[in-house]
Amino acid sequence: MGDISFKIIPAVMAAAMVFSLQACSAENGSAGLIDDAEALRDAIAAAGPGDVITLANGTYTDLEIVLTGTGEEDNPITLAAQDAGKVILSGESSLSLSGEHLLVSGLTFKDGQTPGKAVISYRTSKDDLAYNSRVTQTVIENYNPALRSEVDSWVLMYGKNNRFDHNALIGKRNTGVTMAVRMNTPESRENNHRIDHNYFGPRQILGSNGGETLRIGTSHYSRSDSGTLVENNYFDRADGELEIISSKSGKNVIRNNTFYKSRGTLTMRHGNNTTVTGNVFFGENADHTGGIRVINAGQNVSGNYMEGLKGTRFGGAFVVMNGIPNGPINRYDPVIDAVMENNSIIESDNIQLGAGSDPERFGTPKNSTFTGNLIYNSDGRDTFTIYDDMSGISFADNVISDNTDQKLKDGFIKKPFTLTRAANGLLYPNALQVGAPRDLVVTQKDDVGPDWYVKPSDIAGFGSGKTHAVSPGNGTVLEAVKAAKAGDVIALSPGDYTVTRLIKIDKPLSFIGGGAANIAFERSALFQIEDGGSLQLSGLTINGREAPDNEGNSVIRTSPYSMMQNYRVDISDTVFEDLDINRSFNVFSASKGTFADDIRLKNVTVKDATGHVLMLDAEVDDYGIYNAEYVTIEDSNFENIGKTLATVYRGGRDESTFGPHFKMTGSSLSKAGFHSRNKSGGSLVLHGVQVTDMSGNVISGSKPIKINHTVGEPKTKISGNTFIAMPQIEVKELNSEFENTAVIENNESRKQ
Ligand code: CA
Repeated sequence: MGDISFKIIPAVMAAAMVFSLQACSAENGSAGLIDDAEALRDAIAAAGPGDVITLANGTYTDLEIVLTGTGEEDNPITLAAQDAGKVILSGESSLSLSGEHLLVSGLTFKDGQTPGKAVISYRTSKDDLAYNSRVTQTVIENYNPALRSEVDSWVLMYGKNNRFDHNALIGKRNTGVTMAVRMNTPESRENNHRIDHNYFGPRQILGSNGGETLRIGTSHYSRSDSGTLVENNYFDRADGELEIISSKSGKNVIRNNTFYKSRGTLTMRHGNNTTVTGNVFFGENADHTGGIRVINAGQNVSGNYMEGLKGTRFGGAFVVMNGIPNGPINRYDPVIDAVMENNSIIESDNIQLGAGSDPERFGTPKNSTFTGNLIYNSDGRDTFTIYDDMSGISFADNVISDNTDQKLKDGFIKKPFTLTRAANGLLYPNALQVGAPRDLVVTQKDDVGPDWYVKPSDIAGFGSGKTHAVSPGNGTVLEAVKAAKAGDVIALSPGDYTVTRLIKIDKPLSFIGGGAANIAFERSALFQIEDGGSLQLSGLTINGREAPDNEGNSVIRTSPYSMMQNYRVDISDTVFEDLDINRSFNVFSASKGTFADDIRLKNVTVKDATGHVLMLDAEVDDYGIYNAEYVTIEDSNFENIGKTLATVYRGGRDESTFGPHFKMTGSSLSKAGFHSRNKSGGSLVLHGVQVTDMSGNVISGSKPIKINHTVGEPKTKISGNTFIAMPQIEVKELNSEFENTAVIENNESRKQ
């Protein structure tokens, strides 16, 4: 060890080290503390079994930790924070480890991004992998690159017998699975990894494929076994895309995890003989919350609990797929020998059997059982959809609430019963022994993550902060914005305001007038939403007459640069007028690389705009990326709009996203789409929108409504509207030879 041995704490206490590092460094004084990259490298090079390398508290920028060495089972080589949580790794810092019996504890990655493929990697090169090693008590939070489209992962596990536990992963916002178990070489297969007691915190909607929270394997090696144990983790609003966990390998065990209000499903996408048991799904009736999707052979799905799941199709509460017999490795294998028993599926919208059945996916489930399950919906609706012959599943001893009109007769007992919530928080039927076990221990949010770490509270909502009263005058609004904090309200008293500068919104802010606050603005936009920003407007009249004679003005626009954080726009009781000083004057326009969770217009009037009301078509690459998840228009009136009321574009053919959604009710649109620069030739253009719902609207004297279906089974419903002097609605199926699936009914059409 020579002259650098002082940098290593000779740790007699190795066995107890994880939770006693504070004591450890105190006893040894500061002599053993490492605080720079060179000393760290030296210490690692010299470390042997039982040594503890302690990083001094502080912030390290661009520190690439490469931990290699050979510890022993009871004497690992340890790298730890002096005080857990007080060692901050920022900039382009990362951790990679290889060797045997290594232990890392108490680090925090934030305010930066990984320079490579992963923040934490269980290998230091293609050939140098980690074995019997562990990362614990560590946090990665909002550690993102500048571009949403840049691909990376936060944790990549390689090697065998590794553990990742009591960590927190929060706020991954760019493309790429949050955590993956890699199996790309034989040394990483049959790996016996354990992933447990982690907090998989909120992951915002990505708005494209590549937003999985945990993936085990890839389709390439999917007929190999991984043997990874995933237990006692808490998935909190893991909303990235339609797969929360994508198990793509064999013999995994996924048990006793809790999925709270997370969009998507636990999917057994590839691989056989995986066990999914004791998991709890609380959908809280949120859109697209799903449960378990069963594919492949030998799966055991038992003793799981699902409640309040609203997901549809492949994203339902319980989905058993059809497959392709002897199909290629990257497609769906049929379900064979599945055991599906003692699951509780309560107040959930969809149970799908034979999902995906088509001329290619004709392989129905075989030699499988569905027994002892409990299905309950208080309103008595039948939540089963059966797409194909289900004679390969034997149904027995399932109990279903007696008011249900059940298609499957055999193997289901209809009974009257009531449900009572037990001490573990789950609902059980009185006096019946079916469904999830009574002794199921539910993993709670407090049971997971580093014990030193306080999980972040939710971001400030509109109106949650202070109110700043503003009077008409030069610069008063800008001054108030400068002073405002997240969630604050700028209250405009009656009068005329002229805003001379762009108002940059980088936090949730509300601008509220009483209906007599009039705003004009002198720049090409009034508001620009930037990272972290969300905008609420109410009771305002916004006039475009002072804006520059400039093509492409927008009252509200997003940052021209990629925004990592999703945003919201909520406009009510507000009038936009005289947006016609030049051609292409929009109310709202989104830039490429930005994503709205929600855009909502209620009781809004737009009169005389030369551009679009909502321009949401910046993602034209057909990569399956789009600009907004929910677009909702209620009780609003639009008159003389040069281009479209909304242009929403979601190209690409993959089926990894739930949105975009477009809803318009109780509104009117007239004289729209006639500007000579309106390339689309429509008054409302919805391309690749997944859910469209239009009802109770009056649309008159405008260019046609144009709808293009691109992927999946989009749900388009246009019903109960009045069309006056309107051409036919144009619906195109771009990737299907079949008749379009749009439901256009009960509308009234008049010539004038
Ligand atoms: Ca995916």
